[in-house]
Amino acid sequence: MEINLEEFQTLLSQLTSFDKMYEQVRFVDPVKKEVLFVKHKNQEEIILVLESCFGIWGKGEVCKNCISMRAYNENDTVIKIETSSDEIIMVTAIPVTIEDRMVVVELLKNVTKSMILGDRELTESLEIKRLLDQANIAAVTDELTQIYNKRYIIERLPVDMLKSHLEKQPILLLMADIDHFKKVNDTYGHLAGDFILKEVAGILGKNTRQGVDWIARFGGEEFMICLTNTDKEKAEAIADRMRKAIEDTVFSYNGEKIKLTSSFGLHTLTSEEIIDYETLIHCSDKNLYEAKKIGRNKVVG
Ligand code: GH3
Ligand code: MG
Ligand code: MG
Repeated sequence: MEINLEEFQTLLSQLTSFDKMYEQVRFVDPVKKEVLFVKHKNQEEIILVLESCFGIWGKGEVCKNCISMRAYNENDTVIKIETSSDEIIMVTAIPVTIEDRMVVVELLKNVTKSMILGDRELTESLEIKRLLDQANIAAVTDELTQIYNKRYIIERLPVDMLKSHLEKQPILLLMADIDHFKKVNDTYGHLAGDFILKEVAGILGKNTRQGVDWIARFGGEEFMICLTNTDKEKAEAIADRMRKAIEDTVFSYNGEKIKLTSSFGLHTLTSEEIIDYETLIHCSDKNLYEAKKIGRNKVVG
């Protein structure tokens, strides 16, 4: 995304009537997670920077709930309340098209002392911070299994794909689907099914590398595992370990002993290939379909 200073200036001049809505305006590349330009309200100059957009939150990691990515994906304005160590900041992310390219403008406003919720003025800032952090995490978490949800996939996968491409590393996407899960629901009931989904998420989580890989519930009884810093053979071995762990588990629910299997589709994207994240998901999905076709309880990569 190449945006020049002039374009940023033009945009800033259009924002003057909304002066009170922000203290800081920045141009962000949500995929690269970079700030391109920043303008502080009380300073004349526009600062050309190339720093990480998440740096200001002091958390040392990419935001789990990235609203600029959401604004970019959905082509709509998105607002989030984010917390730093001692402040509460309202971030408004606005997608803007400049000469056919979409960029995201973020307006940042410190609302630590000026936020009102319903008819309550919020003064207990520590409690508010805790609630906000919780809400931001809930937005990307699957309620049943407590692993990431589909929204997280959509926001994280394109970023990891770009990162792997720049680092000349492959990225491996694994789709897992429980075999004949409908039968489990029909035989043992929906609550037993829910219990198994949580347990399976736990088994998958146990077999992924903390802080390197991530897992998410894609929907229903389908899970996604994104692996980086590895190769096809190792990823296949990880998938097979997961498959075997599920096969070997006896799920106990209300005195019932339930056994089941799962199928896995793996796709390896080399660093030279450039495709969008939907195509990558489709490739893994095709291999998952193949695993089902050749008899289930298999890994196809
Ligand atoms: P296959 O081996 O081909 O994947 O067969 P399947 O029965 O697993 O696949 P199918 O797509 O026919 O059925 C998926 C089932 O998953 C149907 C649906 O009721 C169940 N399911 C989806 N989400 C949930 C959930 O949140 N809880 C429970 N208990 N069941 C769910
Ligand atoms: Mg399915
Ligand atoms: Mg299934």
